[in-house]
Amino acid sequence: MIVRRLPYRGLINSHLRVHLKRPQGSRDMARPSSDLAAFREIFSQAKNIAIITGAGVSAESGVPTFRGAGGYWRKWQAQELASPEAFSRNPSRVWEFYHYRREVMLTKTPNPAHLAIAECQERLSRQGRTVTVVSQNVDELHRRAGSNDILEIHGSLFKTRCISCGHEAANYKSPICAALEGKGAPDPDTNDAQISVQDLPRCEHEGCHGLLRPAVVWFGENLDSDILTRAEKVLDSCDLCLVVGTSSVVYPAAMFAPQVAARGVPVAEFNMENTPATMKFKFHFHGPCGSTLPPALARHETTT
Ligand SMILES: [Zn+2]
Repeated sequence: MIVRRLPYRGLINSHLRVHLKRPQGSRDMARPSSDLAAFREIFSQAKNIAIITGAGVSAESGVPTFRGAGGYWRKWQAQELASPEAFSRNPSRVWEFYHYRREVMLTKTPNPAHLAIAECQERLSRQGRTVTVVSQNVDELHRRAGSNDILEIHGSLFKTRCISCGHEAANYKSPICAALEGKGAPDPDTNDAQISVQDLPRCEHEGCHGLLRPAVVWFGENLDSDILTRAEKVLDSCDLCLVVGTSSVVYPAAMFAPQVAARGVPVAEFNMENTPATMKFKFHFHGPCGSTLPPALARHETTT
């Protein structure tokens, strides 16, 4: 059973940091296995597989996160711009930031990890098995790789929501509006474009014309309860769970995967480094997920 009522994204993150962090090399805990054949045996039997993906999968496609060391857009990191307060203070600046991120995605492509997941989804669905992707990423690279069963729990760079009428819509325009054309440069000495609110992206739903915002979950905001409920169902019913490219200190992997493991379901972590949750999992495969995931998800020799 997964906790239904969730506090803010920022709070849960810092809360879990405190409780999940363990000293390096702590003893008397079984180390997770890196036995690929053993994983493959379980994989071949699994009927409902959940794959939780995080920033590491996007990073291998060169998608910037604007977090951590060196992760700046102009003078700011994501958490200083990706908030309702930042948007109401300076919607032009926040739209420049998101415009830049949308435009950057035109130059990025899915990597072998995205493709392996999409191919596995398709293959298993023909066998009456399900693979559901629960992703923290907002870049839609899973969709572009061909995945179709994706729960984007943090929303998408390519969706907008009207702050007046609430209407959400897919939006792949480049640029998203005329005033943002050529704006959004990330260099620290770039001046704000200071676009007036009327010239920022506006709602086209039934003559509303309200101001649009990116339909992503910002720091300090709750997750979409419908998507969360669907993610809970997937995680409650899966018989194998993969955690790919996420530090497991940020929601949801920090919370979801350990709870799946706690009900005795095998969890396999694919990551560049050990995480605070690694010791709770049955498997850990070390390295870039573009290298570790394709052989793990390839067609099993026992299936046709
Ligand atoms: Zn509207």
